[in-house]
Amino acid sequence: YAKSNKLEYQIYDKQIDQHTVERLQLINGLKSAIESDQLVLYYQPKLCLKKNAVIKVEALVRWAHPEKGMIPPDVFIPIAEKTGQMNALTRWVLETAIKQYKQWRAKGIELGIAINISAENLKDSSFCQWVLNTISQHQVPISAFTLEITEDAVVSDLDSAIMQLSYWRAKGLKLSIDDFGTGYSSLGQLKQLPVDEVKIDRSFVQQLMSNTDDQIIVKSTIELAHNLNLFVVAEGVENQDTLDWLRERGCEMAQGYHLSKPISGSDLETWLLQSEY
Ligand code: C2E
Ligand code: CA
Ligand code: CA
Ligand code: CA
Repeated sequence: YAKSNKLEYQIYDKQIDQHTVERLQLINGLKSAIESDQLVLYYQPKLCLKKNAVIKVEALVRWAHPEKGMIPPDVFIPIAEKTGQMNALTRWVLETAIKQYKQWRAKGIELGIAINISAENLKDSSFCQWVLNTISQHQVPISAFTLEITEDAVVSDLDSAIMQLSYWRAKGLKLSIDDFGTGYSSLGQLKQLPVDEVKIDRSFVQQLMSNTDDQIIVKSTIELAHNLNLFVVAEGVENQDTLDWLRERGCEMAQGYHLSKPISGSDLETWLLQSEY
């Protein structure tokens, strides 16, 4: 008994070691990845359901790791947050998105770009000012950029978030509450938030056609948002029936694999030419 226990511990220890080593490698690698352009931005179209046109995209970051291949953001964003690298990462994202915006505009493609802001970014008022300065220095229209901020990030420090969001919005940035429905914001809090849109989390949308609970939730979220004068984006739209259902209920925008997975900037250009939008 004792023997096998010991063996189990040894295996367990080794697994921790392995895990820790890989984590440390990622932590160290991330800094140079940000500096040496190992990150890439992919773009996923947001379809305007009224115009049946794509006028916006969401920028989603990936890490093209030289040995490990494409690392998804769910793996390295939490590391960036815990190791104080989130401002550097979001700076890279915004600067890259601005470059892409200009490249598309030069080709006659007008696409607004949404980027994701983390709770760490929101805590730092000089970072928030940097966002505004950077957009104005590049002489691109500020209204072309949307910041997506998760419900959780906003609610964790509501008063200071409200101040920051009001300032951004007064300067012309579009603001979106991301992953709506997964956090614990109250209706009173939502009412106070100076934002333009809510993004219904994909966990409520993916099985919409087969789950009547989800239908009730999404339908009432759309109504609630409209009563507060907010636009609604549904993410995780995976089939045409869901798209039609959302359009019928007045949802303004849809995003999801049914339209396109997140793809590179040049693939998105090809997609725009080939799609009906
Ligand atoms: P998110 O902001 O909720 O982004 C949407 C995620 O849902 C993306 O995953 C996208 O690929 C995925 N998705 C979109 N449509 C569908 C669909 O129809 N079905 C399914 N199953 N999934 C769909 P991704 O790109 O892996 O990003 C994961 C998360 O990582 C994002 O969730 C966001 O929270 C975070 N993230 C990505 N890029 C950034 C960034 O630049 N900054 C920050 N702070 N976070 C980022
Ligand atoms: Ca998002
Ligand atoms: Ca989301
Ligand atoms: Ca989500």
